[in-house]
Order: sequence, then structure tokens, then C-alpha cells
Amino acid sequence: MKRNRSAKILATLGPATSSPEMLERLVLAGADVVRMNFSHGSYDDHRANYDVVRSLERKLGTPIGILMDLQGPKLRVGAFEKGRILLETGATFHLDMDPDLGTDQRVELPHPEIFRALTEGSDLLLDDGKLHLRVEEVTAKSIVTRVIVGGVLSDRKGLNVPNTTLPISAMTAKDRADLVFGLDLGVDWVALSFVQRPDDVAELRELIDGRASIISKLEKPAAFDQLEDIIDLSDAIMIARGDLGVEVPPERVPILQKQVLQACHQAGRPVVVATQMLESMVNAPTPTRAEASDVATAIYDGADAVMLSAETAVGKFPVEAVAIMDRIIKQVETDEYYRHLRANRREIPEDTDADAIAAAASQVAETLKASLIVAYTTSGSTAIRVSRQRPVVPILCLTVHQAVARRMKLVWGIHPVIVGRDIQSFSEMIDVANCVVLREKFGTAGEPIVVTAGVPFGYAGSTNTLRIAKVRDTGEGCSVLAQPDATDPCALSSRGADTAHHPAP
Ligand code: PGA
Ligand code: MN
Repeated sequence: MKRNRSAKILATLGPATSSPEMLERLVLAGADVVRMNFSHGSYDDHRANYDVVRSLERKLGTPIGILMDLQGPKLRVGAFEKGRILLETGATFHLDMDPDLGTDQRVELPHPEIFRALTEGSDLLLDDGKLHLRVEEVTAKSIVTRVIVGGVLSDRKGLNVPNTTLPISAMTAKDRADLVFGLDLGVDWVALSFVQRPDDVAELRELIDGRASIISKLEKPAAFDQLEDIIDLSDAIMIARGDLGVEVPPERVPILQKQVLQACHQAGRPVVVATQMLESMVNAPTPTRAEASDVATAIYDGADAVMLSAETAVGKFPVEAVAIMDRIIKQVETDEYYRHLRANRREIPEDTDADAIAAAASQVAETLKASLIVAYTTSGSTAIRVSRQRPVVPILCLTVHQAVARRMKLVWGIHPVIVGRDIQSFSEMIDVANCVVLREKFGTAGEPIVVTAGVPFGYAGSTNTLRIAKVRDTGEGCSVLAQPDATDPCALSSRGADTAHHPAP
């Protein structure tokens, strides 16, 4: 399934998109990766969605990435006697550990760790930042606050503590249980919410043990103090503008977005721009012009992927939202100014064999007006390094590992295809590339292609070879790779899911 665009679309699943028919329409409209949000839904819901997506892969003949998003330590106040209270600006309000229902004087805050981290002057934001409290005094059992911005506060509303690094892990007991469930299912990406420090990522990395790749969600200001280390330890990054926009003033969000895109691009880590991109489409069949512009800006700035949340999870127009995102991306990518930006954004290759080959492949493809770059990859890391060069042609990523192909669906410019077994010679390298190029309609006979691979074939981290070839239509199909367990080498193969490595950091 050829997309004719380089940037990818990530769509969140939910009640609006749980039927097999809707999921198929979502993928056909342009969703490359789907997100299962573990803040909502039961295990049965997630398992059912997972199974439908995997069967769609077979039906549509394309890998589809599945991302599980861990809820993380989202702080919440307790419930109230009357379900809600009115907090008057200027009043005093207490947060404590008393599980009794709250009143207009006090409410439970069932997170003892927070009490130790707060000091006089700390700011507390409630209900997505609508209410604002300032801490005046902290005792072992109670936090005394002044209401700076009042309003209605109802049961179990969220609480954000900006400007304070909290002494809590990015993973709760629920997240750990969810992670075991998701990894058993076979998710490709795990998103870690409220990352504050590099150790949060390292902790998850140890638990995952290579079974999935990690996306760190940037939604706490503290994360920006150690941004480079967090990016370095992650396989990808998400700018989670929903919670981030509560923790920092809105005028900071666009600047942080640009800084993160720049830093990720330099490091060669795929980056997703998320939240409220087409928010009005939850209720309307077309976006506002400002929203269309927001999606376009993310693409101009070099995002690997843009994400839909409520639009596809609970919205009335999920397929339309994906379709419009698809159209906006395509429009931007044909714009002259975008090409100019992309050419100027080309990163300097690092002094590794893989980067030297990636940069050369990109340049050769442009010089020869090749129809594409074919990158053989075992771990996915070579394909990501080629993507970092932002070549002017598509990157056809050939791998024997199904899990790697699925992960690559998130990455700018990469069209992953699974091959039945490792290639064993230079002539196979060209024959297989040739067959997939023709089958996926990336080129026609006579056009130049640029092929990268590692010799000896089949070992991770050995990319050292660049070959220029011409597409040949032998009319023989892909017989060179025919074997008992994969008669069509270009078809999805079941091998590799458990032996795949995460992209090498
Ligand atoms: P969420 O993360 O949808 O899981 O809250 C995204 C965000 O905060 O922007
Ligand atoms: Mn969030």
C-alpha cells in the first residue's frame, strides 16, 4: 500500500473506531500506526482491536504499527460530597490524605509522594489548567493552598504540578501490569507518559527487554532540562501538547515544539507531534483553517508523524480526519518552500559506516534522479539513518523481521516490506529489490535505484555497501526467494517477531 507521502499518520483507537469496518477505513484513509490508549478501554477492547489490526495486515498486505500508550502517573484529586464544589478566587483550600469525600474546604489528594515535593510557592493546576492554586504551607498530612484562579472543581479532576520534578516514576503499578499485557499481545511501540528524566526511559527499556521500541512523551517541563539525554535513550519522541500545554504557558508550546523537532532530527530519532491537531473535527466534518495550518506547520518543521487523538477515538468524523490529514501532508510535501527547508535541514552524517552510506545513498539518488532508495535492514537502524538524511526519494525498507517492518511505519519516508528470508548474494540483493520495486509500483523498467545493505548479509549493524542498479522487468516475479514457509517473499512472514532488536541507540 503506497502512500505517496513521507510523513506518517498515527490514529488513536476508541469507541468511534473499534469496529473492523471502521478500522479498515481508517487504515485505507491513511493511518500508518494506530494508538491504543491505556488511559481508557478494557483489556478486552484492546485485544479485540489488536486482533482486527493484525488481520487487516494480512488482508491489505501491509505491516501496520501498533502503539500502546501507558497512562503514567496522572495525578487526580478525590471525590466530593456533592460531586462538585465552587472554589472562590482568594479562598483557602486544603489538599490532604483523608479519604473522606471532599467539601469546599478540602479534598483528598491520594498521592503521598507529592506532599514531599511541594514547597511554599509551588503552583498546582487543576482540570487541564482551568483552576490554579498556590501552595502556602505543607505539613506531613496537609497542603494549604490559596486559590489564585477559582472555578468549579468536580470529582477526580486531574492535577498538574508544573515547574517541579516529582519524586515519582513515570510508571505506576497499573502501567506495569498494562505493559505486560501489551507486550504479550505484541505491540510494536510503547509510549511512556510524563517522562521527567532519562532514568524513566532506562527503567522502561529494562522492562521491555527489546520486545518493542520506546516513545518518550514530552509533557513535563522537567524533561526539557535533560532533553538530549532523554532523546538519546529513546527510540522516538512525542511532543504531547495536551498535558504540556497545561504545564507551560500556551505561548511556550510552539517554541518547544520547534526545539524538540530540531533536536530529534539532529539525533536521528523519529518524532511525533500530537494532540488537538484537528480538534474541531470531533464534531465537524471539516477542520478549522488554523488546524489545517497546525498540521502543515508540523510537516514543514520536519515531523516524522502527526497524531490524532479524540478526533479518531471518540469523534464523529474519524475517517474524514485521517483523510484530511493525508491531504494536508501531501500538499505540503509538494510545496517548493518545503523542499527548500528539507534541503537545508540535511544533517551532517556521523562518522559511522551506516551514516556515510546513508548520506551517500541520499546524494546518489538525487544526482541520478533515482526512483527510490532500497535499504536492507536487520534492526531498522540503517533505514532510520537514511530517513535522517531526508532524501528526495522514498526509502523502501526491506527486512526479514516483521516486528521491525511494523515499527518502521512511524518513520518519515520509510515504506517497509517484509521479505521471507535473508538475502545471500549481491545478485539476490538486486533481484529482490527489483521485484519489490515493481510489485509496490515504486519504479518502472530502466529507472535507476540505489540499494544499501550490509555484507556479510544478515547481520545487524553492518551496513557498508551501496549499489546502483536499474529496474529490470524480468517478468519472473519474486521466485528467487521462494521457500516452503514463505512462497511469496513479499508477503507477510511470521518469523522474526521475537528475534528483532530495537533500533540501536
Ligand atoms: P494523552 O497524551 O492523550 O495520553 O494525555 C497526549 C498529550 O498529553 O498531549
Ligand atoms: Mn498526556
